[in-house]
Amino acid sequence: MIIAIDGPAASGKGTLGKRLAHHYHFRHLDTGVIYRAVAQAMLDAGAELTDEAQAVAAALELDPEKFGNPVLKTQAVGEAASVVSAFPRVREALLTFQRQFAAEPPGAVLDGRDIGTVICPDADVKIFVVADPVVRARRRALEMRTRGEAADEAMVLADILKRDERDKNRATAPLKAAADAHVLDNSHLDIEAGVKAAIAIVEAAKIRRRGA
Ligand code: C5P
Repeated sequence: MIIAIDGPAASGKGTLGKRLAHHYHFRHLDTGVIYRAVAQAMLDAGAELTDEAQAVAAALELDPEKFGNPVLKTQAVGEAASVVSAFPRVREALLTFQRQFAAEPPGAVLDGRDIGTVICPDADVKIFVVADPVVRARRRALEMRTRGEAADEAMVLADILKRDERDKNRATAPLKAAADAHVLDNSHLDIEAGVKAAIAIVEAAKIRRRGA
């Protein structure tokens, strides 16, 4: 079974996807980390983020061993990831890695922006997670402070809005809900309640599949 989790509020740094994968004993991939790793490789190389050829090269040399690097979680790398992820050839270079991950047994949860629309259009369950940007900014600022980063909520909100705009309006794989996605608004749900709601969506889909 493949579960696709997309949406502007999908990641929460992978928490919902991770918890869902844990519940079903599936493998989990936070695909944002992939784009962040490409961006970080560019920054390490001193490359211009707008250098598409270099970004493609970084994507082709992707090293999953580096996914755990804490620097990938920073706001600056997220912003850089949003820039490099808009290049169609970068996305293409990362396609096979994601599809192979999804196809391996026993099942997988992938979260990102284009899982249900581009990477796994045949995913068994698609969940599109949204939340009020102000709530997302508050959560992200809290996350940052927990990591010891300084966080100004108004600036975090501005960054979120800018990034959402860029992700939604790019020509390739824009951020949008698949027609068959279930929208989950977690503005007023804590993580436990969000996980519960997601499990309920998956269980309902399983019942529907059995009946089909
Ligand atoms: O989810 P996260 O904040 O880690 O993603 C960082 C950036 O990577 C996003 O703003 C988006 O531009 C890009 N991304 C993407 N497609 C994905 C996952 C992330 O374009 N599947």
